[in-house]
Amino acid sequence: MSDKRPTRGFATRAIHHGQEPETVTGAVNVPIFLTSTYQYEAIEKTRSGHDYARATNPTRDAIEESLCSLEGGTSAHVFGSGMAAISALCTMMKSGDHVVCTNNVYGGTSRVFDHVFAGYGIQFSYVDTSDAAHVAVAIRPETRLVHIETPTNPMMQVTDIRAVAEVCRTKGVELSVDNTFLSPYLQRPLELGADIVMHSTTKFLNGHSDGLGGVLVCTKPEQAERFRYVQKTTGGILSPFECYLLLRGVKTLAVRMRQHDANGRAVAEFLAKRLGADKVNYPGLKTHPQHELAARQQKGFGSMLSMELGSRERAQAFVGRLNLCLLAESLGGVETLVCHPYTMTHAGTSVETKARMGVTQGLIRISVGIEDTEDIVADLEQALG
Ligand code: PLP
Repeated sequence: MSDKRPTRGFATRAIHHGQEPETVTGAVNVPIFLTSTYQYEAIEKTRSGHDYARATNPTRDAIEESLCSLEGGTSAHVFGSGMAAISALCTMMKSGDHVVCTNNVYGGTSRVFDHVFAGYGIQFSYVDTSDAAHVAVAIRPETRLVHIETPTNPMMQVTDIRAVAEVCRTKGVELSVDNTFLSPYLQRPLELGADIVMHSTTKFLNGHSDGLGGVLVCTKPEQAERFRYVQKTTGGILSPFECYLLLRGVKTLAVRMRQHDANGRAVAEFLAKRLGADKVNYPGLKTHPQHELAARQQKGFGSMLSMELGSRERAQAFVGRLNLCLLAESLGGVETLVCHPYTMTHAGTSVETKARMGVTQGLIRISVGIEDTEDIVADLEQALG
C-alpha cells in the first residue's frame, strides 16, 4: 500500500484516496462489509483475496489506504482503539528490550507500559524528550524504540521530531510518534524522520465522538508484515462499522482542523488575557517556551490546551458553571470538551508523577470544538465567573 498520487492535495486525498466508488454498483461511499468470512472458488482459491475478516476486510482496507496516504507512509494498520494500537506497537519488542518514552505521555500509555508490558520483561524509561540530548543519554544498547508524544497531554510540551529522529538514526533505534493531538493535517512526523506514526483515531481523525479506534502508520516492509500479522493473530482489529465511521470522519478532516485551529487560537488568547499567559499551556501563544519550534514543525497549533485555575475548588466551580462546553473525557470531537486531568485522564497516574508533570488539582484541559467561536468564549467567560 502506498500513495500512488502524492501530488494531490491533502483535502482531496482525504475525500478520495482509498474511497474510490465501489466497483459493482458505483456507490460513492465504501460499503460496510458485514461479513466474517468469504466464499472460496476452490481449495486454495479465494474469490477476491479475502478469506476471513480478522485478517482482511474491504472497509478496513479502504480506511487503511486513506490513513496511509494522509500520513505519507507505506502501510497503515487499524486496531480497536488507540490503546490496542500502542499494544500492537509493543509486540515489536521482546523480553530485555528497552523503550525510551516522553515523560509527559497520556496516562493510559504509561499505564499499559508499566503495568502490562513491563511484566513481560520490557523496560521503559521516561525522559523529557523536549530536549533531544535527554533522549541520546537515555538510549542503551538494548533500546529498540523511542516513543514520543508531541504536543503532550495535558501540559502541551513540544518535542523536536527532526532532532529526536536524528538521534534515533545515529543510534539505530526506531522512532514512533503519537500524533493524536494534531492529526496529519497539522503535523506529519514521517516527513520529519519518524519511522512509525500512531493515533488514537477516536479523536480528531474520527472527529465526532462516536467511535473508538487506533492506527499505526509505517514506513518499512518489515513493519507492515509485523503489524498485519499482529492484526490477524491477536485479533484486536477495528470493526467494519467503525472503519466506515472513520472513513466518513476523515473526509472532513481538513475543514474541521482549520476550524479547530482557529477556535483553539481564539480561546487560548482569551484565556491568556483573562488569567495571564503563564496560566495557559498552548504552543500557539508567543509566551509558550517552544512556540517557535511548534510554528516550525506544525502547520498550525490545533485546539488542545490546558489552564491552571489554582485549586480544585476553583476547577470544580468552573466546570459546574459550564452551559455549552461539556465536562467529559476524550478530545478531538466537534463539540468543546473540558476535562479535569487529575481525576479523569490521569486518575491512574501516581500523585508523585502528576506532581512532576504539573498535573495539579486546579488544572483544566480543553479540547476546543468547532462551534461558533464567540459561543465557546462566552461560555468559558461566564464559567470563570
Ligand atoms: N494517545 C493519546 C494522546 C490519547 O489522548 C489517548 C486517549 O485519550 C490514547 C492515546 C488512547 O486512545 P484510545 O482511548 O482510543 O484507546
